Amino acid sequence: MRPEILFPLYAPVKTLKGVGPRVAPLLEKLAGPIVRDVLFLAPHSVVRRRPATVASAVEGEVQTFQVEIDEHQKPRGPQQPWKLRAFDGTGFLTLVFFGGFGGSVAEKNPVGAKRLVSGKVERFGAELQMPHPDYIVAPERAAEIPELEAVYPATAGLPARTVRRFAHEALDRAPDLTEWQDPAWLERQGWPSWKEALIRLHSPATEADLQPTALHVRRLAYDELLAHQLAMAQRKADRRREPAAKIAAAPLADGVEAALPFKLTNAQRRALSEIRGDLASGERMSRLVQGDVGSGKTVVAMLAMADVAAGGGQSALMAPTEILARQHFETLSGPLAAQGIKAVLLTGRDKGAGRAEKLRALAGGEVQVAVGTHALFQDEVAFHRLQFAVIDEQHRFGVAERQRLQAKGEATHLLAMSATPIPRTLELTLYGDLDVSRIDEKPPGRTPVATRAVPMGRVEEVEARLRAVVAEGAQAFWICPLVSESELVDLKAAEKRAEELRHRIGPTVGLVHGKMTGAEKDAVMADFADGKIGVLVATTVVEVGVNVPNATIMVIEQAERFGLAQLHQLRGRVGRGRRESSCVLLYDPPLSETAQKRLDILRRTDDGFQIAETDLELRGGGDALGLKQSGFPAYVFADPFAHRDLIAVAGDDARLILARDPQLKSPRGQAVSVLQELFDWRPASPLKDAG
Ligand code: ADP
Ligand code: MG
Repeated sequence: MRPEILFPLYAPVKTLKGVGPRVAPLLEKLAGPIVRDVLFLAPHSVVRRRPATVASAVEGEVQTFQVEIDEHQKPRGPQQPWKLRAFDGTGFLTLVFFGGFGGSVAEKNPVGAKRLVSGKVERFGAELQMPHPDYIVAPERAAEIPELEAVYPATAGLPARTVRRFAHEALDRAPDLTEWQDPAWLERQGWPSWKEALIRLHSPATEADLQPTALHVRRLAYDELLAHQLAMAQRKADRRREPAAKIAAAPLADGVEAALPFKLTNAQRRALSEIRGDLASGERMSRLVQGDVGSGKTVVAMLAMADVAAGGGQSALMAPTEILARQHFETLSGPLAAQGIKAVLLTGRDKGAGRAEKLRALAGGEVQVAVGTHALFQDEVAFHRLQFAVIDEQHRFGVAERQRLQAKGEATHLLAMSATPIPRTLELTLYGDLDVSRIDEKPPGRTPVATRAVPMGRVEEVEARLRAVVAEGAQAFWICPLVSESELVDLKAAEKRAEELRHRIGPTVGLVHGKMTGAEKDAVMADFADGKIGVLVATTVVEVGVNVPNATIMVIEQAERFGLAQLHQLRGRVGRGRRESSCVLLYDPPLSETAQKRLDILRRTDDGFQIAETDLELRGGGDALGLKQSGFPAYVFADPFAHRDLIAVAGDDARLILARDPQLKSPRGQAVSVLQELFDWRPASPLKDAG
């Protein structure tokens, strides 16, 4: 239950003075629905109002002048502004008012009146103007014009100064709350109390006060990170408390491993032993395996499945597309069958008697492993004893879909797999409620993909080269970016490119795009995998995990528009066989310095984690990796880049608090509960409710 002390902050914004039915929706859009949201709305800049004389006025600056109203100039037409000419002894300044309320301004500021006016100075022809001054006050009310003023976000119909008034009113309603941070830590950091931090937030004295490095901003960011880490740690602890089947590492799996034509990499071995530790613990596993495409995640999952089968349980591996499911099935079924473990493939294509037979075998426990697509969690699918769910490309599934699959067993162990590299510093914010294994090493024997950046002006050379290698039997991807607002326009561009390539290279040019149905995409991908298509032109839909070992060339148009992680993933689709592969990054010159650096990293390394880390640094936070789409939390104060040093500390702090006081009953626990209520946004981990 929400503590009473927070009630004022949870009142709707319309309870703020001056927020009526017209303003409320605007303020809600800008900040959020409740007073707390207005309290947390930070100014984005400060203006300093320098006193000046008209003779020394600087165009574009916000300045304050002491003037006498010299003349009223009525508008000459309906579109014309009211003008009040003012004089300060050194020159004339014209105050300009559009929109029909100039008359009332003129009334309040008669000719001859002395006034202080403050606002942005502009030049209009020979005339020095101040359109819509921020302040016009009589000299005795000079104190009303702050020398330094925080500027808030604004929106049409809701000017920044009004927002500031609301923010300050929200600040007046902020209660004094019992400190939830460790006093020693606060003192070491030199951080103010929560309330004090908010006061400073709304009364910045300098630009530096607005930076993420300002002490009060760091304090607020840390509060937010701690609240989030606590929520995730609690969820993890709750899941842990659920008893789940104890599954031991089995000789059967050793048999599967021994029969593989390769040795596991050290990273695979580490991931496998972490998974085995979870499976044997008697607590429910929630683990994510992160690793580049081709790093061998599926093989690791397969060995864990063998353990489950040896213990008499069943496993399910769910992939987002049929072609991926089929590829997984081809990887797994042979090695497992050799040890007597039966697997079935279940996709949307299974119909009639064939499907009924597979369902019967699953329900009867005759098969131990099911590989499939969305078809796996349909209502008619029942398992005999599902103990282990593996979800490939987990972000492609909704929470409900993952839950439906897991619900087919009891306290099903969960293993998610992702090929999207996340910088280590951000791992906790995204996956704090999961245990994470990283496979950061590639199987040996892969030839690195030769990568070069080529300006678009040389596209014909690239096409000619492509024609030569395709004639020798090589295969290529050609990726067209999504650049316009309209998918249809992008599709047109891709179609045009395919047409042109067909013209230059020949009929084996195929096209796959986002407007196709799943089955249509799968069919084209299958033709490509079978070698019937030589060059596959694609908008970015190319399935992340699709394995086409014969494809050796990746051409990416307007590469500068893609995120680095995405470029890396696209490139990961070639270089999977032993043949030499190449990646051509076509760009529209000129490249910005940052864009240049980003493309350079790709040429220097093919380590996804390092690429993600560098990308984060180059872009300096913001939405560095398209994180918002991947479920990254929308923090109010915390900046995942600038505050990355605080993330890990908050994670440790959260675990420590919960270890000492799992129910948050102690005085500090109570204070921390209030903190959690204060930031009640749902942490948006992609697996937030997976367990
Ligand atoms: P991921 O799921 O991470 O994309 P997979 O497990 O599908 O990777 O493995 C990709 C390919 O590499 C498969 O053909 C697999 O058989 C092979 N492979 C996996 N691990 C190794 C290894 N340690 N050495 C050599 N080849 C491997
Ligand atoms: Mg894979």
